[in-house]
Amino acid sequence: MEKILFVSFHTRNIIATRIMSNILKKDYIVDVLFFIDFEVLPPNQQKIKINYLELKKLFEGYKYILITVNNYIKNIVLKILKNMNQKIRNKVILGGPTIITDPNYFSGFVSHLCFWEGENIDDYLKHINDNEEVPNFDKSKLYHQINNLDNLPLQNTEFNHYYFHIKNKIIVKKEFDYNGVYTMETMRGCPFNCTFCTNKIYNQIKKSNNLSIIRKKSINRIFKELTFFKKKGFYIIEIIDNNFFLRSLEEIRKFVSRYNKDINLPLYLDIDFRSENFLEKFKEINKIKNKLTLFIGIQNGDEDFRKKEFNRIMSNKKIIYFDNKMHKIKNRKMKIRYDFIWGHPSETESTIINNIKLIRKLKGRIELYRYSELAKGNNDSPFSNTDLLSLNNRFLYMQMMFFVYLNNKSMKIGSIGPIRNKIICKIFSNYAFSKIYSYLLLIKSRFKRLITLQKAYHRLTKD
Ligand code: SF4
Repeated sequence: MEKILFVSFHTRNIIATRIMSNILKKDYIVDVLFFIDFEVLPPNQQKIKINYLELKKLFEGYKYILITVNNYIKNIVLKILKNMNQKIRNKVILGGPTIITDPNYFSGFVSHLCFWEGENIDDYLKHINDNEEVPNFDKSKLYHQINNLDNLPLQNTEFNHYYFHIKNKIIVKKEFDYNGVYTMETMRGCPFNCTFCTNKIYNQIKKSNNLSIIRKKSINRIFKELTFFKKKGFYIIEIIDNNFFLRSLEEIRKFVSRYNKDINLPLYLDIDFRSENFLEKFKEINKIKNKLTLFIGIQNGDEDFRKKEFNRIMSNKKIIYFDNKMHKIKNRKMKIRYDFIWGHPSETESTIINNIKLIRKLKGRIELYRYSELAKGNNDSPFSNTDLLSLNNRFLYMQMMFFVYLNNKSMKIGSIGPIRNKIICKIFSNYAFSKIYSYLLLIKSRFKRLITLQKAYHRLTKD
């Protein structure tokens, strides 16, 4: 049998890769290569040394090399391709968001750009194998999407070999430790069109092709999948739908009752305040008996900014109302986390102050993402890959991280009252002090990441 290699810069969240590999397993031996360094240290924080010699040797043994590209990794993928000879480049098939938004980025380096949804990969390979011309890139005609997600095969969690590029070396293993986490999606698509999200780009293509924006798996299909992987030994379930509350109240009710009866494992879910009947759906999901963690995107605490820059329309009043209600209703085992994006080039001091004001009022935990990282993942952003991003508001961003960090900590221990918070803010509004403190925090977080990398390396090298 001929061999296919998937190259991934993540070990989790590779659902499409796992499904594609299951499809291809019938006709090929399927291996995967993980760039562990990228997972532990995001590309913008680490200059990763790549062992091109070992990589070339590995690539030579494969008929095809499949890479899903987004903007986080497009530079590094191009760098790898530039360091390979033409024979290897001819084996490479690129797919993913960057290929859809910016196909010319790789022109001259690879001949195979797959614009179709990944799960059509067998059709795509048939075209190549039969020397048939793959239809030209044309957004208005070519977007092949799977309409009924029940038709998707299950994920393959067992590759033939796992290769790991870590610390300038390639290590091979026969098994991979998923730490018990089974990551899946029960639906695809989102109608909200936030400016920084790839869904906005997909939605434009879908609309021009008359394709449905949202596709769902049936409740029966979801539980067929969950039961199978529970039996396989997974003990934590992570559902990474864009917004699980796009499902109807009735569907959520059915999901919860079957989940408690048949699965009953810790669960992670993403939901959105803008969903219809939000509180009713929340009350249903609150009936999950095992540990449940909900992730909710807010992104910015300044209403006008949120609407203008992110196209997220919702009042702070409503957000605070939902937060209060949820914390009154929620059971002991549930955790609520809010995502915020910091460091957008248009942020002003007043935006940041409004951000803090909202964060202070929220009872849930706060997770922070830098806008620069998001913008790099989205070609459509006017700031994508500009120096402006990395320089912009750097100081303000760090200062804010402090406020939030402290505030969060105080919420966690629950004993620091408003007066103490005011004093802390006063101290941290001192430029020099907060700058030193921010850098210390940054060093601490980098140090922590380096230790994680070191640990990953030891785990992979020990027999
Ligand atoms: S709500 Fe989430 S998934 Fe939907 S467009 Fe906005 S960021 Fe993307």
